[in-house]
Amino acid sequence: MRDVLKSLKPYVAGKGFGEISCKYGIAPETIVKLGSNENPYGPSPKVSEALTTISPERYPEPESLLAGLADYTGFPEDMIVIGAGMDGVMDTLTRLFLEKGDQTFIPTPTFSYYEILSIMAGARPLFSPRCQDYEISGDLPSDVKMAFLCSPNNPTGNVILEEDVRSILESTDAIVFLDEAYVEFADNSLIALVKQYDNLIVGRTLSKAFGLAGMRLGYALAPRWIADQYRRAAPPFFGITCASAAAGSAALSDLPFMQGSVKKIVSERQKLQKAIKSQPSGANFLYLETKQTSHDFVERFLERGIIIRDCRSFRGAGENHVRVTVGTPSENDRFLSAFKEICE
Ligand code: PMP
Repeated sequence: MRDVLKSLKPYVAGKGFGEISCKYGIAPETIVKLGSNENPYGPSPKVSEALTTISPERYPEPESLLAGLADYTGFPEDMIVIGAGMDGVMDTLTRLFLEKGDQTFIPTPTFSYYEILSIMAGARPLFSPRCQDYEISGDLPSDVKMAFLCSPNNPTGNVILEEDVRSILESTDAIVFLDEAYVEFADNSLIALVKQYDNLIVGRTLSKAFGLAGMRLGYALAPRWIADQYRRAAPPFFGITCASAAAGSAALSDLPFMQGSVKKIVSERQKLQKAIKSQPSGANFLYLETKQTSHDFVERFLERGIIIRDCRSFRGAGENHVRVTVGTPSENDRFLSAFKEICE
């Protein structure tokens, strides 16, 4: 086994229906799952229609998915790369750039897969604790090979200003990976910068606004010199499946459905944020400081069948933060009435 495994902290996912149902003896259908930033409205109904037409005996073909992504993003297909979730895209990208002895820049707290990918590549992550308002503090150290920015940031929900991203891009030769997994909920995408800077890649996913988390479909907008090498190094068929490709194209062909769910989620987010007095957020989740430890706080929700996320597994989040995904109005009401019982 490789030595790097000694410093690897495995990814901790949000809890699932099965686990909570078993542990607390609660019927799965009564559980409210607000721990994994999923979209409770799911994908467009066109997705289930498209899934009836796939040929599972054939290997997947990416053409119509790529055409849909080009339409949606306004980018030419040769600047778009795809993978099994944005996780799969990041996996291939880090294989292109990182090797033993490299350093990566990771403002904390943030999505923990950046750390795992850095360590597995033999690189050393440099963690940079965010300021009070969760903005990135300080400049990029000069010997960094790859920087991971996330906007809106998971778990804090704040967005990065365009001028801050530009000044980072201009101050470094490092590859800057900007993760926009949640950008549809914030409406301030910086993908246009990919056409202006040779060292910027923007990651996106169909898991969130498009409601396709279970299909594992992600993409990135990248300069041509990177996208070309990506296609050489990626796994066969880019890790997509017949089902994910069909689902993705169908979801992209129905933007009004996606926009409708985003609108409902954003309006519920405002309501929830006011009620629980959390940080403002540009994503489909809220970040909340707790008086008791986040472990104890989350337990009290779990025993009531409400899954929220204990943020202790996010490096730099400490012992007193939780993350709550915005659900449907009735799910949010269940969360709010438990919140009142627990906090008042
Ligand atoms: N980036 C961030 C910030 C995320 O929160 C997630 C999902 N947890 C991902 C990337 C990965 O998304 P995907 O489902 O496309 O792999």
